[in-house]
Amino acid sequence: MSKTFAINAGSSSLKYQLYNMPEETVIAKGVVERIGMDNSIFTIKFDNQKEEKVLDIPTHKVAVELLLNALKEHEIIKDLTEITGVGHRVVAGGELFKESTLLNDEVIKQIDDLGEFAPLHNKAEAEVMRVMREELPEATMIAVFDTSFHANMPAKNYLYSLPYEYYTDFAARKYGAHGTSHNYVARRAAEMLGRNVEDMKIITCHLGNGASITAVEGGKSVDTSMGFTPLAGLQMGTRCGDIDASILPYLMKKLGLTDINDMVNILNKKSGTLGVSGLSSDMRDVEIAAEEGNERAQLALDMFNSRVIKYIGQYVAVMNGVDAIVFTAGIGENSPETRQAVMEGLTWFGAEIDTDRNKTRDEAIISTDSSKIAILNIPTDEEVEIARDVERLKNK
Ligand code: ADP
Repeated sequence: MSKTFAINAGSSSLKYQLYNMPEETVIAKGVVERIGMDNSIFTIKFDNQKEEKVLDIPTHKVAVELLLNALKEHEIIKDLTEITGVGHRVVAGGELFKESTLLNDEVIKQIDDLGEFAPLHNKAEAEVMRVMREELPEATMIAVFDTSFHANMPAKNYLYSLPYEYYTDFAARKYGAHGTSHNYVARRAAEMLGRNVEDMKIITCHLGNGASITAVEGGKSVDTSMGFTPLAGLQMGTRCGDIDASILPYLMKKLGLTDINDMVNILNKKSGTLGVSGLSSDMRDVEIAAEEGNERAQLALDMFNSRVIKYIGQYVAVMNGVDAIVFTAGIGENSPETRQAVMEGLTWFGAEIDTDRNKTRDEAIISTDSSKIAILNIPTDEEVEIARDVERLKNK
């Protein structure tokens, strides 16, 4: 039996799940938070037990060492050689990486260099890869890119209407994100409907703190709402989504800002549901406030739902049809209210949500039997998809 890690490193965090493969059973999982800050938090869950420690974890290297030691201490593994595979989630693959790729020194350097596209993520991811290769030299190690599912969209959908040379010279294009999740739920939807994903048109709505919608035709992403970076598309927890670029110089003048990065920081961190509601980036808080009559909270919800409806409508047109609409991620999976409100805006297409079936957080078909479009709720599982990719490349 081989053990495989799915690793998701962020600028100050490291999430992990350890699987027995090919059974796909999770034997340990957890997260290291606040890396590089005071009072870092290390958690591990295994065998119905949970350990949480608060200590200073100055670097990702220390986080990895702590994790590997914890696995041995709790006798989850006896020896590091039992871990035969590691899949690392990478946020930006740029134009270079259009599929999951085996790691070597050069690939890690290229991922590091792509930091220009995802400053908060790729550098940390490359560092974790280097440390893990030192600790687990025998393991098959791969990178799984958030962007690769979208890498083969048609040019008419990934290009911006800018001077063409900006694409050829600077790789300025739409890259999208959440690819592993969109891919997983699209395939799972086809399985649940007893159909072949290759014959289907599916719209996948990944609605979490970060949110994106993808048009999946024949199992491939043909268009997606996030752009050059995850700032574009829907209204998100703290990100504004689509916006007219001309508003930036106007607002900078009004706000007395001279550095464009300060403005972009506002669009990324102070906008979206947080900015509109003035309350919280968390949909749960905003839903409660709206119920209590807070008008701006209600407005934030209406704006969020409206963007989702518009993107779904757009993608029905992009594919000239749709067989299934899938909801996933924090809000998509857990908020029947959001799913109901969104689908009520799409009845003209013949989509009919079943109010009773919609009262769920689990995997389910939530449309009525007479609905022309299947509607599904599918908890996403990016980690298992990463572990599967490790197996696939290992056996190649
Ligand atoms: P990310 O991975 O992008 O950080 P998640 O997919 O974990 O985000 O989603 C987190 C978000 O899901 C939270 O910010 C919250 O808004 C939303 N969420 C979680 N549970 C619920 C719920 N019961 N109702 C509404 N929204 C929820």
